[in-house]
Amino acid sequence: MEIGTNLHRTQERIAAACKNAGRDPGDVTLIAVSKTKPVELLREAYDSGSRHFGENRVQELLVKIPQMPSDVKWHLIGHLQTNKVRQIIGKTCLIHSVDSVKLAGEIEKESAKQNLVTDILLEVNVAKEDSKFGFGLEETEDALRSICGFPHVRVRGLMTVAPFVEDAEKNRPVFRKLYEFYVDMKTKNIDNGSMTTLSMGMTGDFQVAVEEGATMVRVGTGIFGAR
Ligand SMILES: *Cc1c(COP(=O)(O)O)cnc(C)c1O
Repeated sequence: MEIGTNLHRTQERIAAACKNAGRDPGDVTLIAVSKTKPVELLREAYDSGSRHFGENRVQELLVKIPQMPSDVKWHLIGHLQTNKVRQIIGKTCLIHSVDSVKLAGEIEKESAKQNLVTDILLEVNVAKEDSKFGFGLEETEDALRSICGFPHVRVRGLMTVAPFVEDAEKNRPVFRKLYEFYVDMKTKNIDNGSMTTLSMGMTGDFQVAVEEGATMVRVGTGIFGAR
């Protein structure tokens, strides 16, 4: 597995998508999704330049953190249970998967105890898939208004996991819808200007997501190979 080559190709594809859309590649952060992969492979990615890593399970994240250099920025991208919040506060760069006001409330409580502010994204289930977590698009604004009242939680933006599709073009309307909603929320300025992040796009569809405005893409298979 040539992780360095995969990373380089992924960056090139991001740059090409940015060019198509008239965007600056510097505005898109690539998160190397390393879930289920051994730390040796994460180190290889690190040595090839990766600094942002995404994990979907708290336990796995906690095992990997001390084995990697301290300048790694860790992203929690998977569903988070309220009873696991205490263990990860202060350890993440960004929690992408906040899908209830109750969970945000727990993050607030634990962050307050540690006297810090935790950056989060609200996960939105744009395509309304039963199998997926996240707020419905129509409930996200109310949730955002509630959560923005929490002093130890900072909502940096929105995240979505688009449906699994063979043809990435099929997800373009999903990404476009979330981008439009994101701009709408920014315009309403509910968050005092802290919303700068739109996390969307995975191995199968990240180029389309970038063309539609993603500022973070989460790529696992395309960097580390099949799981
Ligand atoms: C696993 C995962 C990814 C990466 O998926 P790939 O298809 O391997 O790129 C991205 N986002 C989330 C939330 C994931 O769980």
